[in-house]
Amino acid sequence: MRETLTQIRNRPVAPVAAAPAAPNLFVAATAAVQAAPAPVSKRQALESLAAEVAVCTACKLHPTRTQTVFGSGNPDARVLFIGEAPGRNEDEQGLPFVGRAGQLLTDILRAIRFERDEVYICNILKCRPPENRDPERDEADACEPFLRRQLAIIQPHLICCLGRHAAMTLLDTRASLRSLRETVHFYQGIPVLATFHPAALLRNPHWKRDTWEDVRKLRALHDALLADAS
Ligand code: SF4
Repeated sequence: MRETLTQIRNRPVAPVAAAPAAPNLFVAATAAVQAAPAPVSKRQALESLAAEVAVCTACKLHPTRTQTVFGSGNPDARVLFIGEAPGRNEDEQGLPFVGRAGQLLTDILRAIRFERDEVYICNILKCRPPENRDPERDEADACEPFLRRQLAIIQPHLICCLGRHAAMTLLDTRASLRSLRETVHFYQGIPVLATFHPAALLRNPHWKRDTWEDVRKLRALHDALLADAS
């Protein structure tokens, strides 16, 4: 039966759902600012990555290491030196390039007017291969993500590979160190030079002259990049 006009007028009014309160944009914005994490410094980012590396079990080197060797130096370094893997001294101390080879690296750096705490020094592998054998492909592949992240944090302007294995692994090539030393290469857009590993120089002092030429080239490229950037 159709409702009369009076019945329609007298129909009880259905309750209306409360409209959502308009957001207080100022309060919301203030809360967002307060909740935003503080910017992480390069040093903090490296410490956090080093903590991840310290518990890594991604390759077969983890059971035999004393400790991981993440890297050391200036988080804002313009130049990054990279070797192949920690040796016995490094494994014991948790630092890269210590012992006689490390001292020679320090001397080489000084010869081209760099202090050790001005640059950053690390290795392709963060764990020592047993008996200092050469790094194996699967180990380098497993460890490379850490290196990529380390480089992404530091953002060096120039990389110097110390030794054939570091250069071969970083540049993914089988070329000889002699040929790799001749040109500037690139890793993720970063110029890369290669020279001898300080430990190899201790065994073959006659390579020091070639190394001197390489590191002078490195210094000249560094200075040219710096001049371009300014
Ligand atoms: S070498 Fe690298 S990938 Fe292998 S266990 Fe050590 S940190 Fe992990």
